[in-house]
Amino acid sequence: MPFTELQRQLDVRAEKGLQRYRRVLESPQGVHITLEGKPYLSFCSNDYLGLANHPQLIAAMQLGAQHYGVGSGASHLVSGHFAAHQQFENQLAEFVNKPAALLFSTGYLANLGAVQALVGRGDTIFADKLNHASLNDAMLLSRAEIKRYRHNDVAQLEQMLAGAHAGRKLIITDAVFSMDGDTAHLPEILALCEGYEAWLLIDDAHGFGVLGQSGQGSLAYFNLASPRVIYMATLGKAAGVAGAFIAAGQVVIETLVQCARSYIYTTASPPALALALQASLSLLSSEDWRREHLHKMIAQLRAGLADLPWKLMSSSTPIQPLLVGSNEDAVALADALLARGIWVPAIRPPTVPPGTARLRITLSAAHTEENVAQLIEALHELVC
Ligand code: PMP
Repeated sequence: MPFTELQRQLDVRAEKGLQRYRRVLESPQGVHITLEGKPYLSFCSNDYLGLANHPQLIAAMQLGAQHYGVGSGASHLVSGHFAAHQQFENQLAEFVNKPAALLFSTGYLANLGAVQALVGRGDTIFADKLNHASLNDAMLLSRAEIKRYRHNDVAQLEQMLAGAHAGRKLIITDAVFSMDGDTAHLPEILALCEGYEAWLLIDDAHGFGVLGQSGQGSLAYFNLASPRVIYMATLGKAAGVAGAFIAAGQVVIETLVQCARSYIYTTASPPALALALQASLSLLSSEDWRREHLHKMIAQLRAGLADLPWKLMSSSTPIQPLLVGSNEDAVALADALLARGIWVPAIRPPTVPPGTARLRITLSAAHTEENVAQLIEALHELVC
């Protein structure tokens, strides 16, 4: 058998409780979903504002398909850059208060492209140890020297910056950490950038749409503006569609257009998506009630779970992880919730450090008080 060795590796993963499964959804993304023929209450998606199945986005996508067809036909630099993409880039730049923005097909590609285009051999990257996998992969691809500081340890970051040699210095960090829900200490990190002549790439996948008065994200939340900041956010989470963008000064954006391989060598996303995204941005920026309601749900959940034996991690964002510990216990708890009609994913290593398997509860503006109360009650029933 030519693949015996691969099978052995898979068996080892399964023995360690690390095998992953894909569950098949038969309904639109949302709070009430259908999985393999059965209805569930879901606390499982990053659709934080409840826009993924919104009628206005659906109508915009339909209109886009009628106007542009379904495929973009080429990469942006060949013939796949449409008026809808261009308009949306302009809207995004204005919304996040940056001179220019560039759309990517996914956040993974945006991070790979930006890091690889901005730094290389002879440069140094400083990265939080809990950064998202796409930033970690991007660092490796860039061939720059890598220095990883302890999670949110700004003092260690400063020591590393002080010891860095010549070359460009790029700090990269999640703004809201995807598996912990806490935020990076962006004001302190940006102050270090000024002092040490470094650039800062912020991955705001989980802050865009959720944080800031009108959903502009983490920079607005912390009231920060600096030409040193290269801002990245994704559009498949709070924005409810797909894709990502980088917003920065013109020189940075033009460098990405010329040099970011994951931008240049991939087919542009369908222009109909850009129209759905324009509709999303309009709702996301104007409907403050979605953020207000979301924060009410977060407060209700935190108050309701405070007395559980499992520790609710410190987070004020819609990502509310419940720390369980062992892989087996986390999976057993997720399975027990599923048996009660509630879907919450168990997150295990290597996505999180060994011994910190957890339930990653995510909240949405589409959840009601009753939905959250149901989850609180079910978790209390499962305490042995
Ligand atoms: N960065 C972070 C922090 C993320 O959580 C994710 C998605 N899980 C990405 C980047 C990648 O974005 P996308 O799903 O659009 O590829």
